Amino acid sequence: MTYGLGPGEYEVLFAAQGGVCAICGQTRRTRLDVDHDHATGLVRGLCCRLCNRKLLTAARNSPAVLRNAAGYLEAPPALRFLGPRYHIENREE
Ligand SMILES: [Zn+2]
Repeated sequence: MTYGLGPGEYEVLFAAQGGVCAICGQTRRTRLDVDHDHATGLVRGLCCRLCNRKLLTAARNSPAVLRNAAGYLEAPPALRFLGPRYHIENREE
């Protein structure tokens, strides 16, 4: 048993996910993380390190927060309320 998966189950899940992170869809040379719900222990799927350890953690494992993040990127409040404003790193105006 590894992170709640029985023998061969990682490979079955990996193939079912098409060999990519279940969230961002990127392929990884190293093994994907076995992501699980820390409250219940439920194994959710295979994710890359960035999605598992940064994205889900920053989003507090909340579907609502992740939906808000998608809406935020699609309709940024500064663009809606102020119009286009630009800031590019290392370029002083
Ligand atoms: Zn990912």
